[in-house]
Amino acid sequence: MTFFDTDIKFLKGVGEARSKTLKTELEIVNFRDLLYYFPYRHIDRSRFYSIAELEGTDLPALQIKGQFISFNKEGEGAKQRLQGIFTDGRKLMEVVWFSKIQAIQNMYKPGVDYVIFGKPSFYRGSYSMVHPEIEVYDPAKPPTGFRGVYTITENMRKKGFSMRTVQTIISNVLTHPGLSSIPETLPPELVERYHLMPIAEALQQMHFPDNARQLQRAIERMKFEELFYVEAHILRYSMERGAKIPGYNFTNIGEKFNGFFFNVLPFTLTGAQKRVLREIRADMHTGRQMNRLLQGDVGSGKTMVAFMSLLMAVDNQCQGALMAPTEILATQHYETLKGWAEPIGVKVALLTGSTRTAARREIHAGLESGEIDIIVGTHALIEDTVKFHRLGLAVIDEQHRFGVAQRARMWKKNEVAPHVLVMTATPIPRTLAMTVYGDLEVSVIDELPPGRKPITTLLRYDSNRNEVDRLIYSQLREGRQVYIVYPLIEENDKLDLKSLQEGYERTCDTFPSFRVCFVHGKMKPAEKDCQMDLFVRGKARIMVATTVIEVGVNVPNASVMVIENAERFGLSQLHQLRGRVGRGADQSYCVLMGKANSGIDTKKRLNIMTETTDGFLISEADMKIRGPGDMEGTQQSGLAFNLKVADLARDGQILSRAREVAKAILRGTPQLLAQGCTPTEQQNGELEPIALSAESAAIMANELRLRFARTVDWSQIS
Ligand code: ADP
Ligand code: MG
Repeated sequence: MTFFDTDIKFLKGVGEARSKTLKTELEIVNFRDLLYYFPYRHIDRSRFYSIAELEGTDLPALQIKGQFISFNKEGEGAKQRLQGIFTDGRKLMEVVWFSKIQAIQNMYKPGVDYVIFGKPSFYRGSYSMVHPEIEVYDPAKPPTGFRGVYTITENMRKKGFSMRTVQTIISNVLTHPGLSSIPETLPPELVERYHLMPIAEALQQMHFPDNARQLQRAIERMKFEELFYVEAHILRYSMERGAKIPGYNFTNIGEKFNGFFFNVLPFTLTGAQKRVLREIRADMHTGRQMNRLLQGDVGSGKTMVAFMSLLMAVDNQCQGALMAPTEILATQHYETLKGWAEPIGVKVALLTGSTRTAARREIHAGLESGEIDIIVGTHALIEDTVKFHRLGLAVIDEQHRFGVAQRARMWKKNEVAPHVLVMTATPIPRTLAMTVYGDLEVSVIDELPPGRKPITTLLRYDSNRNEVDRLIYSQLREGRQVYIVYPLIEENDKLDLKSLQEGYERTCDTFPSFRVCFVHGKMKPAEKDCQMDLFVRGKARIMVATTVIEVGVNVPNASVMVIENAERFGLSQLHQLRGRVGRGADQSYCVLMGKANSGIDTKKRLNIMTETTDGFLISEADMKIRGPGDMEGTQQSGLAFNLKVADLARDGQILSRAREVAKAILRGTPQLLAQGCTPTEQQNGELEPIALSAESAAIMANELRLRFARTVDWSQIS
């Protein structure tokens, strides 16, 4: 029985009854569980901080002594806030209240010494505190120390657990003489290499830090540890799976690819497109099945990458499939691909839900005989009646509409699993993608085709309606097309439907000489398609719609995107919508219609949109605001792992390092892999393989077992 494994009931201050509560409420069974029950925040009342010494974004709640200089009300009505300027005698800091404004202004006076206590938040280069606790400075009051604050459930309270109880119990395990002899939980090589805090000290500092600096080092160590094991786990499976699932080995770069590249390709590929094509080619040339996620911002040219990858399949006597989430998108892809494929004698066909029976039969036959080289379609492609002669590559566009299960079905159609390329315009930060999608390798097109003018993004209010109408009108007169989008978060929200209807009528009235089409989610699919089609063909010049505007529709002639009630959309969603324009060489506009009286945070959020068109920056900002669980595209999949200390939105750097070193270790220490598995080869720029000592390998194997014994085998799912 090691220290870590010791039953919690043997700890001073616990006993039978409390140990039962800890077990049922928090799944704390042994000493280790208790030590890893980290505070969700810390309070530092050990001393007074100066504003100048604040550093980093992960600060505990802390206290500062000083005076208010002034108070200042901002905003109107419900959005009102009170700003106080506080000084410690050297520097200034903003203190903000959103409620009880009058009372606060009456209570606190400039010139009096106060102690303010709260978690400093950091925004654009300076710190502020929101709703701090405030008391008049009392020199006789002793400091109360630096400690953790823990989650306590309702049931625990009923059984007599207080914050104090938990703190005491944890302090008891930390002062237990056995703690000094606990073994490292990370391979000691890594602790040394990355100058990490040793485990016993880190646990001590996590709960009862000596100071903020030590706490940050402890948190860093625990974050690294957590992410290291998550990545090692994911990578281990992907290597094992890679070894198990053979794939077609595309050895030829042949006639079709070259014929297209030299004679048909209508533009020069961007550097990013070329790089990604090389990555895909290398991946389909290993004899193992490719599972790759292709991320590229809207308009970055993913379709061309998909097509040229499909040609690689055709050149190797295989067929290819391109699956899109909607009929309109599939049709559009089909027309694009047909235009590229016909000159080189590659046969493309389209299969969707509305393909007529006779045509469908013919297509089924063509797929089975191998006469059709590339099939484009909707989920009709994965119906059981569809059989391929030799499906070599399946490309799935706008993946977040398809469940993982559907992907799995697609490749079960073959004896040899086809390569899979999943394309998404949802710019999930790379770090998050690696963790969410586990074993998918990630390629990124991080460059837009040349000659695009950046989209001008404007934030406007109802009082600017006329200006916006003039902009729309001038673009219509130049022959361009316009989107006007309304939020409809709840499909049956009557208020939303009403404002959409009114918006449509107003648009028709304002621009009587232009045809307006109208699309929303309550329509029958056929009617919706018909309205969309009017716009795609340029017959309707304005589209009034809810967000049902299909992701991925390509109407290069559209130059204005007006988004009504923009504050109700997430940043990533706004970015997707904005990406519908700016696809031609002319200047395009995105107008965000905001509410004049919206809060400061909303304005800050919308201003991010006017400041950058970089989808990755936007998605990172969005993730910071909303948290990774809410990210578009990750909702259905959900995070595979529950993280205790690390935060994917913030800890991208630690995650990348953890992944890199986990990879190097698995390559250098093959006994960590199941028998018969070959680790992936070291790529350019990756760490040299690291061979762990036998003891270190045992530590790792043990941790992986402890941490992941209960999780699902994700390798069997994607
Ligand atoms: P997305 O990545 O959003 O799917 P598309 O594949 O629809 O983007 O490409 C957007 C537009 O850019 C298309 O009209 C396409 O033909 C064009 N395009 C793609 N690659 C290039 C390139 N290298 N140079 C110029 N135009 C390109
Ligand atoms: Mg696309």
